[in-house]
Amino acid sequence: MKLRSKPYPKTWFEILLSLSILILLPVTFVFDIFFILPTLHEPYSFWYYFNIVLAVFLNLNIEANMLAGMLIDTSVDYEQCQPPPEGDAARLEWRHCTVCDRWAPPRSWHCKLCDVCILRRDHHCNIVGSCVGHHTMRYFVCFVIQFTFGSVYSTIYHLYFMLRYNYTLVVLHLICGPFPLFELVTLNVFSWKLLALYSTCTAFRYYLPHVLHGTVRFDRGPKYDCGLAYNLRCVFGERMFLVLLSPFISSKLPTDGYSFQINPNHITAKSVMAV
Ligand SMILES: [Zn+2]
Ligand SMILES: [Zn+2]
Repeated sequence: MKLRSKPYPKTWFEILLSLSILILLPVTFVFDIFFILPTLHEPYSFWYYFNIVLAVFLNLNIEANMLAGMLIDTSVDYEQCQPPPEGDAARLEWRHCTVCDRWAPPRSWHCKLCDVCILRRDHHCNIVGSCVGHHTMRYFVCFVIQFTFGSVYSTIYHLYFMLRYNYTLVVLHLICGPFPLFELVTLNVFSWKLLALYSTCTAFRYYLPHVLHGTVRFDRGPKYDCGLAYNLRCVFGERMFLVLLSPFISSKLPTDGYSFQINPNHITAKSVMAV
């Protein structure tokens, strides 16, 4: 696994976005564990410990997957790859990158911000300041899944906490007059959770079909849709059932990112013309 030579965000927007997640996640965690949890579950009970373990697991995994997406290099290694020779049918899948002035492999696209061609490029992610491509897809999808689950779980708990302590009164205080600092912090953390819930659920709903059908954003049609099991392996690797446990578990992908298995039922315009 190769690491990026410049693994930092490229713009002020990316710096603010990544810092806000790296800071707000632990802040929310501390608030939930020290203020919300002891009021909803008896301290040192089974559910008290269960929630602490689950929250620690989710927080560590979300941040570790995010860091992996920042650090791992998924660009085309032009020193290592050679396009198929002239006349070879596989060469038709390659395209010439005018910026790099090189022949780029199938499904790779140039990123203006990263200034390299990215293997099986999906998009440039502003949260990690890097492209989501062949080698980082797994970390991005795990990040989205865990962040979505964490947002739903944390927002439900927070809502339950507020309903239980009649926060309609707090909202009235917010409009009518002074109120204690704790209630203000509670409402602020809740609004950040709602924003996270909306963003993560939107991302989850968008990427789920891509993962299931083996496609990335720039693919057209079901050309690379080779069945659910294979599609999942193309994202999560051979040990797909373990990768959600930790980003440190290695899981080999079925391809090197330079050539791909094609859906045998997919008919392209080129193949029709060849017939
Ligand atoms: Zn390029
Ligand atoms: Zn990029």
